[in-house]
Amino acid sequence: MNESTHFGLKSVPASEKASLVMGVFSSVAGNYDLMNDLMSGGLHRLWKRRMLSVAAARPGMRILDVAAGSGDIALGLSRKLGDKGRVVLTDLNGPMLAEGARCMLDHGLLSGRADCIQSDGSRLAFRDNSFDVVSIAFGIRNFTDIEAGLAEFHRVLRPGGQFICLEFSHPVLPLLDVAYDAYSFNIIPALGEWVTGDRDAYQYLVESIRRFPDQKRFEKLISWAGFELAKYENMTGGIVALHRGYKIK
Ligand code: SAM
Repeated sequence: MNESTHFGLKSVPASEKASLVMGVFSSVAGNYDLMNDLMSGGLHRLWKRRMLSVAAARPGMRILDVAAGSGDIALGLSRKLGDKGRVVLTDLNGPMLAEGARCMLDHGLLSGRADCIQSDGSRLAFRDNSFDVVSIAFGIRNFTDIEAGLAEFHRVLRPGGQFICLEFSHPVLPLLDVAYDAYSFNIIPALGEWVTGDRDAYQYLVESIRRFPDQKRFEKLISWAGFELAKYENMTGGIVALHRGYKIK
């Protein structure tokens, strides 16, 4: 890994990024769901619903949801898995994972059907070939080493398994990029400050989105990690992209 990396639009020592990202999510955890609804006007629910509809989750499967946060994706996946399936929520950040655990408990899922394990997604404490599906939503752009994360997801996925990733991307419609930039850089940090008192966390959010590879480049990174049949679909004009890839052997 290089000695320096990006944290939003800033350059920071690579060894410091994970703790900076920790600080951001510890600060926003309690208001995370509310802010998602406010910032996206509820659109994040539609993006996540689409992700769940294409996830190859079947009754009895074992699924890993990385960067699970407050648990929206894990909950939706668990509903597709039925009584015999199991979803593992993992997240770098304790307070975010606690929100996920609360979500699972509120739905009666933590005993037997879901586990919460705090870990860095780029150093997973799971055996090779141990999950049928690996999912991650709005998490990977926060990783210090995206390639290392993708390699880990490939390692823990069983042959024939699906990797599915929802992430902010780059608008592809004319003028949408201009409007989106204006909204992101002018409104979101101010909204974040108003609701959470932490403007910097939301400044990081918009900068990290801007800094993340576009959909074509990220698709290449997925292929380079060993996934086959990689493809993506744009949502809301490319503001978000849903990526898929498969571990064939
Ligand atoms: N997946 C949830 C969702 O879609 O609502 C939460 C997404 S939230 C924007 C990003 C999450 O990624 C946070 O919970 C954060 O703690 C987690 N995260 C950031 N870096 C991580 C890493 N290296 N490994 C695992 N989780 C990480």
